[in-house]
Amino acid sequence: MGLYEKQQVGEKQPLPYPIEANETINAEGCLITPGLIDLHAHVFPTQTFLGVEADRVGVEQGVTTVVDAGSTGIWAFDAFLEEAVRPSVTRILAFLNISGDGLCKGGGELGDMSRLTPREAAALIREQPLLRGIKARMSSSVVKHNGIRPLHVAKEAAREAGVPMMVHIGNAPPRLAEVLALLDRGDVVTHAFHGKAGGMFDEGGELIAEAQDALDRGVLFDIGHGESSFSFRTLRLAQEKGVAPHVISTDVHRRNLDGPVHSLTHTLTKFLANGYPLEAIVAACTSAPARILGMENEIGTLKPGACADVTILQLRKEPTRLTDCEKETIETSERLVAHQVITSGKVLTCK
Ligand SMILES: [Zn+2]
Repeated sequence: MGLYEKQQVGEKQPLPYPIEANETINAEGCLITPGLIDLHAHVFPTQTFLGVEADRVGVEQGVTTVVDAGSTGIWAFDAFLEEAVRPSVTRILAFLNISGDGLCKGGGELGDMSRLTPREAAALIREQPLLRGIKARMSSSVVKHNGIRPLHVAKEAAREAGVPMMVHIGNAPPRLAEVLALLDRGDVVTHAFHGKAGGMFDEGGELIAEAQDALDRGVLFDIGHGESSFSFRTLRLAQEKGVAPHVISTDVHRRNLDGPVHSLTHTLTKFLANGYPLEAIVAACTSAPARILGMENEIGTLKPGACADVTILQLRKEPTRLTDCEKETIETSERLVAHQVITSGKVLTCK
């Protein structure tokens, strides 16, 4: 199935009018794309153990927009604004954790149903434009004995606020089939290509019926690479079955920044090495996440009238080793590297 939208890159178009510039950037041999968007990152270092500074995984790595996926719930949101959003050049958006605690008290945030805050979360999302959805982490270590119940609560909040949900999947319970059954068009499954048991492919390598149904009704599959949630083997199975990720994101945090994730461009290189077309890879970290965020006219696009938000990439011919979360390593001869970004009226050189 053709899940990727087609986006033309690399075609030379004459300018429709003469342009007088104050500043000219030499981007010869580079790829000019909309500013990259990382739909799943953790950038709340002051209050969560896993958090990293947004600019370190944002503009310094060619990512002009990072979306924090559930580090904060309602109770730490003011601190998130003050300590993560305010000091950062990188644009920060967020999926608000359905647990009032977010990840500020460790990882079992959905183990106590009394900590879930659907009404307050929906109200906060309606008044805070940087909040674009609800996050719920639906795996056994997070929900403890609550099974699927937290997802019903999260869904209620997302409906009330009129935003999509991002649902993390991992080890059951709850089973993936139960999780997918509750998701609607526009909701996002992150860690969709993990290599654990109980994923979208059964033991015989066939796509489970519930995953096919979810895809057919417009549920979106995101990579969310992370520390233990991305497998080349699953990716190859998906390629055989014609299932492509809608979004490529990192789930970058303190424990995977030095590997296996490293950066969004390093993650994109893994898709290039597996034969995905560059146009599709760029769409999966620009226009596709922008649509999920409801910001397709502002970011993730180079069309006139959008924000001047641009990433300049280089495709370097360099032998590179790439490792997934199952410790499978592949070799490739080229890699994507962030060179510069243009964002918030500034031209910045990446590190
Ligand atoms: Zn995450």
